[in-house]
Formats: sequence, structure tokens, C-alpha cells
Amino acid sequence: MGYVFDFAEGNKDQRDLLGGKGANLAEMTNLGLPVPPGFTITTEACRAYLQEGGPEEAETDALASEVSDHLSALEERMGRRLGDAEDPLLVSVRSGAKFSMPGMMETVLNIGLNDESVSGLAKQSEDERFAQDSYRRLLQMFGATVLDIDSEHFSEALDAAKKAKGTENDLDLEADDLRSLVEDFKGIVQEYAGRPFPQDPREQLDLAVHAVFDSWNTDRARLYRRQERIPEDLGTAVNIQAMVFGNFGMDSGSGVAFTRDPASGSQGVYGDYLQNAQGEDVVAGIRNTVSLADFEKVDQGSYDDLMRIMTRLERHYRDMCDIEFTVERGKLWMLQTRVGKRTPEAAFRIAIHMVDEGLIDMDEAVLRVSGAQLAQLMFPRFDETADRNLIATGMNASPGAAVGKAVFDSDTAVAWTERGEDVILVRKETNPDDLRGMVAAKGILTSRGGKTSHAAVVARGMGRTCVCGAESLDVDAKRKEVRVRDGDTIQEGDVLSIDGTTGEVFAGEVPVSDSLVVRHFEGESVDDDLVAAVGRIMAHADGARRLRVRANSDTPDDSSRARRFGAQGIGLCRTEHMFLGDRRELVEKLIVAEDEESQTAALDELLPLQRQDFTEIFEAMDGLPVTIRLIDPPLHEFLPDLTDLSVKVALAEAEQADDGGGGSEELEHDRVLLQHVRRLHEQNPMLGLRGVRLGIQIPGLFEMQARAILEAAADYAAEGGRPLPEIMIPLVASVRELDVVKADILAVADQVQADRGVRVDFKVGTMIELPRAAFLADRIAASAEFFSFGTNDLTQMAWGFSRDDVEAAFFSRYFDHGIFDVSPFESLDQLGVGGMVEMGTTKGREARPDLKVGICGEHGGDPRSIHFFDAVGLDYVSCSPFRVPVARLEAGRSVLARR
Ligand code: ADP
Ligand code: MG
Ligand code: MG
Repeated sequence: MGYVFDFAEGNKDQRDLLGGKGANLAEMTNLGLPVPPGFTITTEACRAYLQEGGPEEAETDALASEVSDHLSALEERMGRRLGDAEDPLLVSVRSGAKFSMPGMMETVLNIGLNDESVSGLAKQSEDERFAQDSYRRLLQMFGATVLDIDSEHFSEALDAAKKAKGTENDLDLEADDLRSLVEDFKGIVQEYAGRPFPQDPREQLDLAVHAVFDSWNTDRARLYRRQERIPEDLGTAVNIQAMVFGNFGMDSGSGVAFTRDPASGSQGVYGDYLQNAQGEDVVAGIRNTVSLADFEKVDQGSYDDLMRIMTRLERHYRDMCDIEFTVERGKLWMLQTRVGKRTPEAAFRIAIHMVDEGLIDMDEAVLRVSGAQLAQLMFPRFDETADRNLIATGMNASPGAAVGKAVFDSDTAVAWTERGEDVILVRKETNPDDLRGMVAAKGILTSRGGKTSHAAVVARGMGRTCVCGAESLDVDAKRKEVRVRDGDTIQEGDVLSIDGTTGEVFAGEVPVSDSLVVRHFEGESVDDDLVAAVGRIMAHADGARRLRVRANSDTPDDSSRARRFGAQGIGLCRTEHMFLGDRRELVEKLIVAEDEESQTAALDELLPLQRQDFTEIFEAMDGLPVTIRLIDPPLHEFLPDLTDLSVKVALAEAEQADDGGGGSEELEHDRVLLQHVRRLHEQNPMLGLRGVRLGIQIPGLFEMQARAILEAAADYAAEGGRPLPEIMIPLVASVRELDVVKADILAVADQVQADRGVRVDFKVGTMIELPRAAFLADRIAASAEFFSFGTNDLTQMAWGFSRDDVEAAFFSRYFDHGIFDVSPFESLDQLGVGGMVEMGTTKGREARPDLKVGICGEHGGDPRSIHFFDAVGLDYVSCSPFRVPVARLEAGRSVLARR
């Protein structure tokens, strides 16, 4: 296989080998569109060039001779030789990787010009000005991108030339002005590159090609790849293409276009055109461009051709295309196309429009959008019609729209939040000391760091809105102010609005508007075309998906909302919050109980309260399964803090000694409590007395919970409801643990059903959240009627990470070193934790073929993880109510993507 391919030899599906740009140039060539001829040097040649220790001589030679062959063929075809003194062929050298990547070498146009061939070009074109303009452009682009000279030097010289001429328009520079600018540019090259501009056309070409290869490894390109999870070892292709000239006069020009509006998704072309301009001039803002509508008036013939080609491309790609074109003396040339990037709302609209136009079917439409895009449509948004004072734009690190007063340290963030104010924590960058402030704040704004910085990782983990790396802001935490580029300052207490979905930062309060899409999911009838598009795509995804989607919900309100959002049950109802608030006292009673009698008394008091909690959830989820996890956290979490209580007791004792002794009732109570807090204090609570261990240690506790669940279910069934409780035992490692508590639960169930005279349809199962449980899933399945993988704990236990400690402490380092590219708490570690999920499922079903298997960690709402859970055959995923639509969509996409 060779290293170089003619455009006519490739096609759009060869992006791996030819890069995106090369593959699409080949596709357009083969469609018979007017594409200037050329050839592509493959990504494989780049990989060989970049390999450790440098390329082998044979490879270098092979590449050089293949380039020579293709160049000769191109010269023959064009009837000109590269850089010929009389009639030069000129080419562009364009980088193009599989994924478009900022930070790579920019395109160099007009390669082949030198002191001699510039005259040849002038003679052939009968246009001296055009020839000199092309040469100065080559010097400028080659100098900046291949020879690494600061482009400021060139633009300063250009500005000086315009100033000398008394103009601001580059078109006013005449041939002589440009000729002397060429001399200036050559001087700049000599001065800053320490060598003359290479006059040999082939040397120009080879240097440019190598510069493209080398640019794969610039810092910016590496950083971008890490952020976008693009593999390091793809390499880039290089395209060498005969030049066409948009700078040939007013009947020439350069333009960009979209076949639909990439912002709204509306039908109808969109674009800009600039007369007498080359390459990027049109997007560089050097002169005012005209719209495509005006282009029609300038050059009807080229416009008609462009419209025909755009329609053709859309039909062919069956998607919205993004296009670059050039007009040379009234003839249209196509220079690039690709499937265009678009906003989330445009993605949904375009997909549905294309279905209605018969370009794609509904399966395809579902694949054209993503859960991440849907999630963006569900966040509340800043009102775009409101007056907004944009002061900076950073990275969109964690989505949402947050408004609050600027604060510069954690203490203030916590203090102000406690007095009921919303705050935005503003820092240069965050570190673990800022954690309290981040928890308290509505949003986090930093001036440094990217999407894997400490602030970004922690904010996403907590679901807090975050904009990071807003570099134009000068954050001065000491003086408690932010200096804005235009000279304004933001002081502590000034209101800021930050948009974590776009990365925008506004001074003052921007009104927030609810998402129409959410109102639709809530059941409101909303007349809006975007909502209609979302509705149709969701309905189709629901029809296609195999995975069921449940919600993690602990309250009746959340459960009702989850159901409106399409949840097919509850996958995780935690019970610990049922022990907080006023009920804390009852838990204290339970813990300090000296004998069985007082323990039972405490439990009896809790029972009716628990029962009421469950009744309401069963009502909200009538006819759908509700998985209730028995109490999981260690008991001391329900008691006062050890240090606080010790101090309180010590102070009270000191006071009493002053008063001359005697014991108050409160002090006595606190003393007893303190004893128990000490007794229950653990070095490592995550690995301590919690989950099923608690159920074994205090049998009455699980029994009480089971009774509350079953009585609530029995009563609701007696009323004609359809409760479907699934009692879930947390943190099981051994089937014996499960058997011990299950026996008690079954005994309670028999009693309740006998007492109430009602049969309850219930199951007893377990969470799989310890590696041992995954390994011994077959044994555990003998006793468990269902499994639910608790992937949060399973991730902690598999990596030995305590999430609360490690994310803030060292995850950003882990990203820097590429140890992971996404937090394993955000997206499932498929190899490790996923391996356990897959093994546990297989083994569990070997022992019990009808075992129901789900997952209830945060990963249940993560698109990549959902595809994995679908592929390994789980029955359902469970996620937060708000993520339910995202999970439904991704579960549908997973099936359709595999078809
Ligand atoms: P990017 O990847 O940054 O879009 P391109 O390789 O597309 O860079 O090139 C930059 C500009 O130069 C574009 O406007 C493109 O259309 C123009 N260009 C590239 N090759 C040629 C050529 N052979 N003739 C005329 N213009 C060209
Ligand atoms: Mg381009
Ligand atoms: Mg757990």
C-alpha cells in the first residue's frame, strides 16, 4: 500500500487514512464536482514520520518518490510545472486529521512562488498586482506556520504599508506597494528564521509537509485531543492541491456556506462571500463580507452553480454540510465540505426536517442527536432577549445557568449562603481547600484551567454550574476583585451570571427562563417546533429501545416527576433521609437503647412514619416496580459530630463545676450520647458498620423497614392499588449475609400478609457493589431475586478510591498524565468496573435465568455507560429523574447504532 493517493482514488469513508478533509475532497472529486485536482499524503505516512527514533530511510525515500510521482502527474494534468519561471503551477498544503483539530498547522497557499516564478505568474495572468499579492501571502503564511515566525511581524508590516498609502483597505495596495511588501517580508523571514525564504519550490513543498506532520504534536493539539478524547496515535494527513485564485480581481472571491442554519436548524442556505479575496480572508474580518443573497447579485452564474452543488451535497451526504468555495474569474471551485457542526436545537430540528423531506428515516434521525444535546436543551437558560453584559467567555465546564454574588473565598461563600444568598465562587483556579465554597456556591468561575482542571472535575461531580479558564479575567483574590479587560472591575458582592453550557460570563443578573423541552416532559402542552421535534425523536427512541429506564428517587414528588419524564419504575429509593430531621431523635433513642425493650419501642415509633413515606411513593408509581434500599450508611451519620459533642459536653461540665456541681438532664443525655458516638466512631466509615452489616448487627432495624414497606404495600393493595415493592439489601459480599437478613424479612412478610389478609407481590434482592459480590454472583443469585449494580460504590471499591477525598485531591493530575480521560465516577470504567458488571450479570443469570438485573449508580444517566449496559444485557438503568429522558434516548440510540 502506498503513502499517497490521488483525490480520484479515495472516498468519504476513508477518514482514517485520508483525514476528514482529504476523504471529502476525494468524495467531491468522484461526484464530478469542480474540485481543483490534487493528492493526499496518508495518516500512515505521518505515523511513520513521527515514530520513535524518526522514520526509517526506506520510508522517507518511499514517501519522497511517491510525492514526486504524484506531483509529476499533477503537473502533466495542469500543463504547468511547480514553480516554473514562465508559467508556474502553484499548490496549497493543507493539514487534515480524522477529526478537525485546532492547534494543527494552518494551510499554506501559493506554494511554488519565488522571485522568478512571480514574474511568470504576472505575465500569464496579465496582472502584476495579483502575482505580487499572491507572493506576499505565501511569504506571510509560510513564515508564520512553517518557519514559526510570530505572525505579528507580518501584519505590522502590512499595516505599515497600508498606512503609508493612507488607506485601511488591502485592495488599495497596488502592484508596486505589494512588491516592496514582498521585500519587507523576505527581510522578516531572514531576521526571525535566520535563513532566507526557500526559493526552491520542491523544498517549500517538503518543508510544509513536514511542518504539518510535526504540528500533530504541538501543545495545543495534544491538549485538544485529551479534552475531546481523540486518540494520540491517529496522525494527520496532508493534502496538496492545485491553487485556484479568489484574489484575481472583483470577478473572483472566496466564500463559506452551510446548507442549513447551523444555529437554529432552519431550512435555507447560509453563508458569506468576499470579493477579491483568498482563503480565510472571508472569515478573518478584514473587510465586510456579503451574504449569499447578495452573492447572487454579484455573480448569478456562480451562485446558481453553488446552489445546485449544495443541494447535491446535502442529498448525497444526507446531512447538513459546511462548505468552502472560491470563484476564480467567474468560475466556481469547491475546496472543502464536511458534515457541519450544529447547536443542540439545530440538531433536533434538522433531523426531523430531513425525515419530512424524505432524506433520512426516523432510525437515522434518532442517531443524529445525542443525550448530551438533549440534556443541554433541558437546562434552564439565560434569556437571550434580555439585556446582557458579556464580560468574558471561558470553557463550558459544567452546564447550567447560575446567578449570584461574586465571592472570592470559601469562608465567605459558606457564610453568605448560610444567610440565604446565592453566590458565585470566583477563583484563579481551585484546589481542595476551596471545596466547602464550591459546595455552597451556585456556580464556580475560574480564570485558569481547562475542562479537566480541578474546578471543572469537582463541579461536574457535584452537578454545579462551572465556567473555567475565562482567561481575559484577572482574578485578584487578595483584593477581592476581578479586573475585566475593558477596565471595569467586579467587586465582592457584585452580581454575576455564568452560563456553564456556553462558557459565557455576564455582569449583573440575567433573567433565567425555563426550558420549553422540560415543560413538555412535565406534561404541559407546548406549541413549539423544537418541542415537537424532540417529542417525535423520543417516541421513536422509546419504540426502539430494549433497556428499561427507572429513576433514583426518595420522595413522592420526585417519583411523580420521574414518572412524567417516562420512568418505568424506581431503581433506587434510599431510605436514609427518612431518619433525618425530626426523626433524628428516634434514631438516637434506638442507638442509646440499653435493652431490647427500649430498642423495640424506638423502632415502633419509626414504623408508622416509614410506612407513610412508602405509601405515597407506591401511589406515585402505581403498577411499576419500586426498589427500596434498606438503610445503608453507618449509624453515626445520624448522630451529632464527635468533636462538636465532645466540646459541648466539656463546656457544660466546666460551667457546672463553676456552679458547684449537680447534673442537668441535658448534660446527662449528652454524656450518654457521647459514649455511643465514641463507640460508633470509625476510622474508615466507608468500610465500616454499614449496609447489610448494620442489618445483622441490629436485626430489628431491617425488620422494621421491611414491615413498613410490606404494610404500606398491603394497605395500598387492599385499596385496589398495584404496589410492586422490591426490597434491596445493600453492601452484600457473601450469600450468607443475604440469607441471614432475608430470612427475617420473609418472616415479617408472612406475618404482614397473614395479619392483613392481603397477598403482596414483592421481591427480595441485593445490590452488587463490592468486587467479591461480582465474583460470587452465581452464589448470591441463588438467594437474590434481582441484582442492582451500585456502580458508585463498586467504582470506589474497585479502584480503592474514596470519592469525596480523591476527586478534589488529585484527579486533575490523573487527567494530566492520561491515567484516565474521564472520571470513572462520571462515565463507567468499562474495562474494570464494567468487567465486573458483565461478569456478575453472566454468573448471576447462570444460577437464576430470570434474574432481573439493573444498575443504579450515577452512570445510569451517562450516555457512554448506557450503551455499555445495553450491550451487556442489563434489564434496566436507573438515574436521577431529570436524566430519565436522556437515558431513554440513549437506550434507543444504543439499539439503533448496533443495527
Ligand atoms: P482549514 O482546515 O483551517 O479550514 P483549509 O485547508 O481549508 O484550512 O484552507 C484554508 C483556506 O484556504 C480555506 O479558505 C480554503 O478554502 C483555502 N484553500 C485551500 N486550498 C486552496 C486552493 N488549492 N486554492 C484556493 N484556496 C484554497
Ligand atoms: Mg477549511
Ligand atoms: Mg452503595
